[in-house]
Amino acid sequence: MFFIIFEYHIYRINKRNCVLPIVVANKNKMRLIKLLLVAFPIISFSCKSQTRVSRIEIVQPTVEQEATSIWRTINDITFFEKQGYTIKLPKDSLIDSLITKSKNGAFGNEDFPVIYTLVETKVFKQKNYAQAKLEVENQIDLINDFVSEIDTKKSQWDWKFKMFDKYKVVFTLYGTGGSYDPDEGVITLFTNIEGGFMKYKNPAYTIIHEITHMGMEYSIVRKYKLAHGLKERIVDTFVYLMFQEKLPEYKIQNIGDENIDRHLNKKRDIESLNSIISEFVNK
Ligand SMILES: [Zn+2]
Repeated sequence: MFFIIFEYHIYRINKRNCVLPIVVANKNKMRLIKLLLVAFPIISFSCKSQTRVSRIEIVQPTVEQEATSIWRTINDITFFEKQGYTIKLPKDSLIDSLITKSKNGAFGNEDFPVIYTLVETKVFKQKNYAQAKLEVENQIDLINDFVSEIDTKKSQWDWKFKMFDKYKVVFTLYGTGGSYDPDEGVITLFTNIEGGFMKYKNPAYTIIHEITHMGMEYSIVRKYKLAHGLKERIVDTFVYLMFQEKLPEYKIQNIGDENIDRHLNKKRDIESLNSIISEFVNK
């Protein structure tokens, strides 16, 4: 088994045309294994320059994370309903009673354990995320292209686009939509068991949108205390101007102050986004 695995590696590496030390003979199995143990790091090292390290990591959802998604959604249910959000929660009488409790202002941290137990025993299945995972895996190369394009251009911009070495993609089946954590580089994607996503069928659209949110959260959005609508409009405009050829269905949501469009409408405008927003908010 050991031998077969190593052979497989060598075969793959050889196919990529890397420098391959000559490994012959099968006379003495132990000697061959020893030789491979020495040769393998050399082979990996010589191949390093040809393989790109992915900046996107798909994280397996956990019971804890989904229980937290559900708890947060129930906790803010009155607000979400008022805003007219579509809310997804497990269909269970316990959840219904907790929603009522929350509307009466009696819901809190002490309700987390029962949610956790419900998720663990009746709701959570790893296979519910398999299709969504596959959909994202299929777009990894494209998303990495976006990240490296931003990476090579951002030094010419008059603002800091915050980047993470690794972006973690987490899935959730519950709540009101996706989210991002600008301190951790975590993107939470709202999905269903069929691997469907909100707004765009292709998850690359939403992932680059969230990466952009994290990129400008401190240097633009919080710096100028931008309202939610304007924030979304600027993030969308950035994605549209940067990647419209590769994301032909990308649309700028029609929210926020549309007057910004007169100042931000060419790819080159991204270079001076800080001056553009500074002038715009101080006009
Ligand atoms: Zn957004």
